[in-house]
This record gives sequence, structure tokens and C-alpha cells, in this order.
Amino acid sequence: MKAMVLDRQRRPLRLADLPDPRPAPGQVLIAVHACGVCRTDLHIVDGELSEPKLPLVPGHQIVGTVIGMGEGAERFAVGQRVGVPWLGWTCGECRYCLSGRENLCDRARFTGYDVDGGYAELAVADERFCFAIPEGYPDEQAAPLLCAGLIGYRALRLVGDAERLGLYGFGASAHILCQVAAHQGRRVFAFTRTGDDEGQAFARELGAEWAGSSDEPPPEEIDGAIVFAPVGPLMTTALRASAKGARIISAGIHMSDIPSFPYEQLWGERVLGSVANLTRQDGEEFMSLAPKIPIRTEVEVRPLEQANEALDSIRDGTLRGAAVLRVHPGGGST
Ligand SMILES: [Zn+2]
Ligand SMILES: [Zn+2]
Repeated sequence: MKAMVLDRQRRPLRLADLPDPRPAPGQVLIAVHACGVCRTDLHIVDGELSEPKLPLVPGHQIVGTVIGMGEGAERFAVGQRVGVPWLGWTCGECRYCLSGRENLCDRARFTGYDVDGGYAELAVADERFCFAIPEGYPDEQAAPLLCAGLIGYRALRLVGDAERLGLYGFGASAHILCQVAAHQGRRVFAFTRTGDDEGQAFARELGAEWAGSSDEPPPEEIDGAIVFAPVGPLMTTALRASAKGARIISAGIHMSDIPSFPYEQLWGERVLGSVANLTRQDGEEFMSLAPKIPIRTEVEVRPLEQANEALDSIRDGTLRGAAVLRVHPGGGST
């Protein structure tokens, strides 16, 4: 099969011809239609996440069709369209798994990091961690729901009831979460890089009440924030813009250092926190919510061979919405 492979970190991916994967017991074999490109993939390629399997096929927002299964796999039928997210496997027996927090499993394996992912024509995945893709979503629009969407959704839950919600960094995840938050009746304040007028206009189109640069104060205090940009100082920027009781949640897997700040800025029951990974329950909930809103994902689609260019567009901030690689020409809405 054709795949884009990471041989070593801090090197571009290489187009390779790999042996076709075979599904192990409990796994499905998937013909990949589309695979989303996530900022986490960029952190893996750039070496900020230090322990990937190598060589590695990245990609953890896989949409494709089941074309075979390993022994005992029975959850999906051949021909069914499924999605594969970042959480690829958990142990089921550690204290996190046993308390409904499998996202924190000590031995979790992640798609496109510990096991090969979806920058390829074929992928295998543990069927228990796959999701059915809602009808009506073309493959390319569904792919970003699998990480940008659902990890953002988990972050939104951690923010709590915040009526005035700040979103810092308006990329793939924020453009989806802005729609969810507006649907829930929240007032969204979107923060972009200074001078990103286009990004600010995009945020307003998707339901943000106000959009501006992260170095300007919002028109009102915020009751909570999700920080998507991997920029530690934004955590304290959001804190300074926040009302008492606000929860400021980092949604990324990697972030630069958070500068120190006076305790009085945290006082008043403000909370700084992070969100890690996803549980299968998050995924099931979010995938059933998406068509009800309905979430429209704005995607920049490229052929598989242009995975490096897609990663570049995230690195340099020129991407609007989410980047997706098209592999097999896939289904439209089945
Ligand atoms: Zn576990
Ligand atoms: Zn991701």
C-alpha cells in the first residue's frame, strides 16, 4: 500500500510502498478514504512529542470503509463507514480505566503515534475504539470531527457552564467548537494572532459574538476559555481576562512554558487545567451531536502525497479550518 512515512523526527514524511497491514484478532481492516491532519501530528513530526514508534505512519482522524476483519471482530459490517480516533487502545484494568477515565490510561496506545495511523491507503484498528460515522457527512468533512472536534468537545465540558467563552487560537478545533458553543447558547469571544483579520472574520461567520487579537482585552470578562494554540503565555492572558470562577483549559498535547503570575490573578476560584485525549463515551456523544447542530467543517483537502504541505500550513498558521488528506475516493453520505 501507499503511505506517507515518518522515518525520523524533524524530517519530512516520505512517500513509501509498505506491505498491506493485516487485521489482528478484534481489529478491522479499513480502506482509508480521508485522514485529517492534526496539530498533534505536527508535534510528532517536529519532535515535541518524543517517543513515537518509528518508522511511523501518522494520522489519527481516519474515515474509511471496513473491508475485512480479524478473528472475533463483529461490531461493524464489511462496507460500513467508520472513523478511527487518537485513542487506539486502553488496558481496561488500570485505576483510570476502571473509573471511567480511560483517556488517562497508563498504558494507552495512540493511533498514528504508538501504532500506525491513516496517512495511508489501508489501516487496521481495534474495533472497540472505532466510531460509526454519521450519515450525511462527506468523508473529508467528517475526518476533523474525530480529533479537532471531539477533543475540543471534551475541553468544552471541562470549562463547565461558562456563558462567555473565550477561544484562543482559531484553528481546526476552535472552528468546530465555536459552532457547538453558539448552538448551546454561549457567547463566544474568539482570539487570533495579531493582524489575522481573515481569521477573525471567519470566527464571526461561525457564531462568535466578538473576534479580536489575543493581546487585546475582550469587551467583557470571560467565564471560561479553551486555549488551542500551543502558547503557554496565552493561559495567563486568558486568566487575566477572566471573571471569578472561570476555568481556563488547555486543549493541546504540547504547549510552551506558562509564565509565572501573581496569585491574585488566580484567586476567586479560577482554575487552570488541561484536557487529555478522549474517552469512547466522549466520541459517541459528540458524533451523535454533530449532525444535530449540524456542524459544518471547513476543510482544505489535499492528496495523500501532500501530507508535508498540509503540515506546513498548520505550522505557519495559513490554514483556514482543518486540513484533510484524501486517499481513496470515498463515499459521500453513506
Ligand atoms: Zn488503563
Ligand atoms: Zn489530534
